[in-house]
Amino acid sequence: MPRTLGMKCCTTPAPMPRHDLHCHSTHSDGLLAPAAVVARAKERGVDVLALTDHDELSGLPEARDAALAAGITLICGSELSVTWRGITIHILALGVDPENATLTDGLAGIRAGRSTRARRIADALASAGIHGAYEGAMRYVTSERLISRTHFARHLVAAGHAREMKDVFARYLTPGRPGHVAHDWATLSQAVGWIHAAGGQAVIAHPGRYRVNAGGMRRLLAEFRDTGGDAIEVLSPSHTPAQYVEFATHARVFGLRGSCGSDWHGPGESWMDLGELPDLPMGVVPVWKDW
Ligand code: AMP
Ligand code: MN
Ligand code: MN
Ligand code: MN
Repeated sequence: MPRTLGMKCCTTPAPMPRHDLHCHSTHSDGLLAPAAVVARAKERGVDVLALTDHDELSGLPEARDAALAAGITLICGSELSVTWRGITIHILALGVDPENATLTDGLAGIRAGRSTRARRIADALASAGIHGAYEGAMRYVTSERLISRTHFARHLVAAGHAREMKDVFARYLTPGRPGHVAHDWATLSQAVGWIHAAGGQAVIAHPGRYRVNAGGMRRLLAEFRDTGGDAIEVLSPSHTPAQYVEFATHARVFGLRGSCGSDWHGPGESWMDLGELPDLPMGVVPVWKDW
C-alpha cells in the first residue's frame, strides 16, 4: 500500500468548526453583555460565532475584543426587522462592515420607530387594563437605543400577568392580542440592499415562525432570492426536526445557502443553548462556504 494512502487512513479528520450564527446581547434583548456571550460560546465549544443584535451593531467592538482574547472567530452581524406583505420577518446580516454608513443609517431608521411603538404597546395594554407597562418595560431595557417586545414580556411576567415568556407573547404581544400593535419596519429589498452594501450576506431568520401558508412561503423565498438574498436559517430552535428537512429542501430548490443559529437570548430564557444545534443537513451549501 502506498505510504501516503496508509497515512491518510490513519489520520483522524479535523472536526468541523462549530458555527452558531444567531444570538443576542444586552445591546438588544439579550441578558448578557457581548463579552459574556462570547465567553459562554467559547465554553460551549463554538468556533465561529455571529452576534446578531436586533437592528443594532453597537455590541460588536466588545464582542470582537472578547473573541480575539478567547481565540474564537467573531462574525459581525445583526438581525434586521422587516415588514413583508403586512407580516414581520427577520433578516440576519452576516459578515458586515459595522462602519458602513448605508447599513448604520438604515438600522438607525429602523430603531427610531421603536420608541413610539413602545408607547403604543403600553397604550394598548392600558386599554386592556394593564397600566404602567412602559415604565415597567423600561426597567428591563439594557440599551437606551433599543426597546423591544421582549422587555415588555419580562415586565409582564415579573408583574404576574403570565407565568413565562412564551405565554406572555401568546396572550398579549402577538397579532390579534391586546398588547400588539401594527408597525412598519424596513422593506425586504432595503434590508438586503443595506446588508450587501456593507459587504455581508442576507439570511432569512427562523422561516418556520412566519404565519404564511405553503404558497406564501414560496413567494417569500422567491422574492428574497430575486432581491439577492443569500441564505435560509435552516437550523433554529424555532424549527422542529421535520422543518430542518423542509427548509433544507427549500434552500436547495431556491438556490439559497443554509445557516444555523441558536437565537440565544440568555440563561434560563432560551431552551437551546449556544452551539447546541446539529450539523446542517446533507446537500445544503453552508452560508460560510466561502469564508
Ligand atoms: P420586537 O423586535 O420588539 O418585535 O421583539 C421580538 C422579540 O420578541 C424576538 O426577537 C424574540 O426575542 C421575542 N419573542 C417573540 N415571540 C416570542 C415568543 N413566542 N416567545 C419568546 N420570545 C418571543
Ligand atoms: Mn429577540
Ligand atoms: Mn428573530
Ligand atoms: Mn434573534
